[in-house]
Amino acid sequence: MPQMDVGLKRELEAKVYAGERLTREDGVALYESDDLAWLGRLAHHKRTELNGDRVMFNVNRHLNLTNVCSASCAYCSFQRKPGEKDAYTMRIDEAVRKAKEMEGEGLTELHIVNGLHPTLPWRYYPKVLRELKAALPGVKLKCFTATEVQWFEKISGLPASEILDELMDAGLESLTGGGAEIFDWEVRQHIVDHNCHWEDWSRIHRLAHSKGMKTPATMLYGHIEEPRHRVDHVMRLRELQDETGGFAVFIPLRYQHDFVDSADGKIRNRIQSRTTMAAPAESLRTFAVSRLMFDNVPHLKNFWVMHGLSVAQLSLNFGADDLDGSVVEYKITHDADSYGTPTTMHRDDLLNIIWDAGFQPVERNTRYEIVREYDKPVTLAERRSEPQQVWA
Ligand code: SF4
Repeated sequence: MPQMDVGLKRELEAKVYAGERLTREDGVALYESDDLAWLGRLAHHKRTELNGDRVMFNVNRHLNLTNVCSASCAYCSFQRKPGEKDAYTMRIDEAVRKAKEMEGEGLTELHIVNGLHPTLPWRYYPKVLRELKAALPGVKLKCFTATEVQWFEKISGLPASEILDELMDAGLESLTGGGAEIFDWEVRQHIVDHNCHWEDWSRIHRLAHSKGMKTPATMLYGHIEEPRHRVDHVMRLRELQDETGGFAVFIPLRYQHDFVDSADGKIRNRIQSRTTMAAPAESLRTFAVSRLMFDNVPHLKNFWVMHGLSVAQLSLNFGADDLDGSVVEYKITHDADSYGTPTTMHRDDLLNIIWDAGFQPVERNTRYEIVREYDKPVTLAERRSEPQQVWA
């Protein structure tokens, strides 16, 4: 990696400390920096300005109603075709039963994303939301990617506005941030196998924002894209945020290899043989540059399932201020134990991770409103007098 010109380094530093907006060229230069500690320092400055020493988290569970999907995105190991051994689609009563089983420990949010099922009728989706809401009235429903909403347009013949109205009436609190991957067509055409690209993705989130929703935005990094594509991704979202102010959080997601745990032993990820997963330093770099570039979104989330707990803790010093979540089961990536990720996490585990990293945990709801503030962390000197919890 080339050493960054000292003059440029000072210039970028001055811009960050003066609160000046960074340009596309600045973003690319930051990715090229060989000084990870410096990047972390800048991102931590920005993160502290925005969020102090708080780390937010929520108690949520993930539910995938079906893994049957009409598309075959190149990086996806979740989708199954109808009739495949471990293809499944939940009946509405099954989905409700499963959600009820997850209800313990003060659950505040259900996160629901699904395959683009070729034959399930549109009516299924508002119906399942209505029944989930009736069974779990205190739980917020964060459901569906923009890609799914565009799919609903196709299967219902209704415009997205009517679809969102009906879903909101049935209990939808927020869309999810998925389906974004990398917007630049140079990359997107090789990894995405459905018709929801930047134009539709941004149209649907803009519409959701106009109806009062706060939504997340994601970016799938570490596959065939280059840093300039990540910068372009954030620039598009930043511009949309200038217009709507509706994004609550940005979530960089580390691309995962398929760990072959399907019933038929098949690897579905078609770019696996020519890609490696991003190393921890690359993840920390991506968090830091994202925090610095995306200056108008309040929160930066680490979805720890995709990064492992060590990187999740470290990322709190590289711009991240939100840890999602206390997930017990997550189907889209799994077998992440090789990356230091346990299969279960509960509220107390998350609290300890945040305290151990020297931050104050704050429980939030889906709209990033504070549910409960916890104690500040004890000092490092005090912590070191006790045996330390070691996260793999
Ligand atoms: S990423 Fe989503 S749309 Fe693409 S194949 Fe997987 S489940 Fe289907």
